[in-house]
This record gives sequence, structure tokens and C-alpha cells, in this order.
Amino acid sequence: MSQRPKEITEFSDTSLLIIWEDGHESLYLYEDLRKLCPCATCNELRKSGSKGKSTFRKTIPIGVQSTQIKPIDIEDIGLYAIRFKWNDRHETGIYTFEFLRELCTCDGCKPVA
Ligand SMILES: [Zn+2]
Ligand SMILES: [Zn+2]
Repeated sequence: MSQRPKEITEFSDTSLLIIWEDGHESLYLYEDLRKLCPCATCNELRKSGSKGKSTFRKTIPIGVQSTQIKPIDIEDIGLYAIRFKWNDRHETGIYTFEFLRELCTCDGCKPVA
């Protein structure tokens, strides 16, 4: 059973805070979330941009300054995911809670180097 967010809040102009059911807190930069968009189009872009290397964290072209990227709206998708509508008009990425939780960058979640 994966964790679900208890609260999703705009933390600052550039970041989003998710408080999970288990009390864990994850902070995400909008820029990172946008670059990691899991939709098919972005996956293709990431693949085409590299040759056999790990493509997961590859950046993708975005229509506005990456530091100004922000969601205009965040929509619930059932009980398992949310969808961001970005200010570069991209809105096909569905971010499952499982995916978001894996992206948590806090000290406790970061893979041990
Ligand atoms: Zn996308
Ligand atoms: Zn964490």
C-alpha cells in the first residue's frame, strides 16, 4: 500500500510541499517536477536526448524560464495520483503518489551514496 498525501501545499513560488499520511514531509522544486514529467511525450523527449545513458533525470525543453515554471492548477486523479497543469501549457503528466514519494529529496529518502 503506497502512502497518500494528507496535504499538498504551495510552499513558495518555486516549490511544493507534500505532507504524507505517515507524517513524512517532502519538498519539491516545481522545476524538477516539470522536468520529470512522466507523460509519454516527455518520456520520448528524454529518450531522444541521450544515447543509452540514464534518461530519468534528463532535462527536457520547456516553454518558459525553468525557474519560473509553476503549476496553474493541480487536479486530483482518482485516489492515486495528481495532475499538474503547468504554466507552459503542458498538462498531460499524471504523477502517481508512489512516483512522487520516490522523488522525495529529504535526507531520510536520499539514496545512500
Ligand atoms: Zn510531459
Ligand atoms: Zn523523504
